This record gives sequence, structure tokens and C-alpha cells, in this order.
Amino acid sequence: MAINPLQLVVSNAREPDSMRRILVSGCLNGPPIRYNRTNVEVVSPIWDRWADEGRLVPFCAELAAGFPIPRRPAEIRGGDGTSVRSGTGTVVEDTGADVTEQFLEGAQLAVAHAVQNGCVAAVLTDGSPSCGSTYTYDGSFTGGTINGTGVVAQLLIDNGIRVFPETQLDQADQFIRREST
Ligand code: SF4
Repeated sequence: MAINPLQLVVSNAREPDSMRRILVSGCLNGPPIRYNRTNVEVVSPIWDRWADEGRLVPFCAELAAGFPIPRRPAEIRGGDGTSVRSGTGTVVEDTGADVTEQFLEGAQLAVAHAVQNGCVAAVLTDGSPSCGSTYTYDGSFTGGTINGTGVVAQLLIDNGIRVFPETQLDQADQFIRREST
């Protein structure tokens, strides 16, 4: 299934006054682009309002980096997104293949896309080695998790973009409203 990540940008039919946009994981209420060909459903009036206001900027860093759908599951070994950025952590597939460089490339493309589209915040799929913002899997491929960020979330944070998991839409909405006043 070939999906161009740049096609995941929604058109902004009605622009919010302040144009405070939100980068969102492309798999949130989007096409089935996760490693296992699924998406993540978010049912919330906040999300619907953001969509009506034209604030949503969907993007998938892993597709942007050239990964296919479906693809091997990947986890961070040696820490979280901070560790990957500092060179002490790696992103590996369950086959053992090191895909750190591709994940870093995807993260850089995500930051560039957020900046180009005026995003001041991001709402990302938690747990992903790219998009996780409160936890990621621990690299053992046994279901263990650690508190920490994925590579995309960490690079966004390091570039001044506030990141929220999809379970914290209320907090994200409060932040956007503060930024818009
Ligand atoms: S990289 Fe992010 S947007 Fe892409 S499928 Fe994984 S969680 Fe979703």
C-alpha cells in the first residue's frame, strides 16, 4: 500500500484566527499505516473541533523515511529518543537490523514539516519508537515498556514544539488556547 506522507496533510477549509496548527501522527484517525497495517482511533469532540478549524497537520515520520506498510516492528534499545539522539541508544527491528539512521531522518522530516506548517504543538501516538511521548517499548520485544520519548517526539521537543500523547487531548487543547490568546 503506497501512501505518500505528504498526502496526509489535510486541506484547511477554514483557518483558525491565530493559525496555531497541530502536528498529529498520520495513523491517528487516519489510514492504516502503522507497522502492522492498523491505525489508532481517537473519538473526541476536541479532535473533531480541531479538524473543523483546520488545525490538524497529519504526518508519518516512518513513511517519510521510506519504510513500507506493513513493516517489521521496531523498538529503541539503550534508552529512549534522547539516547538515540545522543548516540547511546539505537532503533532496531525484531530481526536485529539497525534502523537508527532512518528513524533519525524521519524525525528530522517531521520537525521540518511541523515548522513549515506553523505547528506549535504535536499530538502523537504513544508507545511508538518514533511518536511515543510518555513511554516506549524497551527493546526486548517482550512487551516491556519504559517511561520516555520516541525519536520524533524528542526531536520536536528539542525544537520547541510541545508534544502530547493522544490520551491528553484536553491538555493539548488548553495549551493551544493559551498559545492563541
Ligand atoms: S511513525 Fe508515528 S505516525 Fe507513523 S505509523 Fe508510527 S506512530 Fe503512526
